[in-house]
Amino acid sequence: MPIYAYGCSSCGLQKDVLQKMSDAPLTTCPECGKETFVKQLTAAGFQLKGSGYYATDFKNPPKPEPASSGCCGGGSCSTAS
Ligand SMILES: [Zn+2]
Repeated sequence: MPIYAYGCSSCGLQKDVLQKMSDAPLTTCPECGKETFVKQLTAAGFQLKGSGYYATDFKNPPKPEPASSGCCGGGSCSTAS
């Protein structure tokens, strides 16, 4: 479960909140009660994308297929030298 850093722009409270991915982001500051409690961007190993709270999208470039060497790449080549 990721920890999200939240900050309040009204009173300046900063707080880390443990949330499930599926939990809605908090908006109400527990300190001053105003709706100025917003999720901060952190470098905690996950990326926030867009304005949502779905942050499990790691950048995973697809691995290229290993180049087959010569004619024996498939393992079905019977050519012997
Ligand atoms: Zn506040």
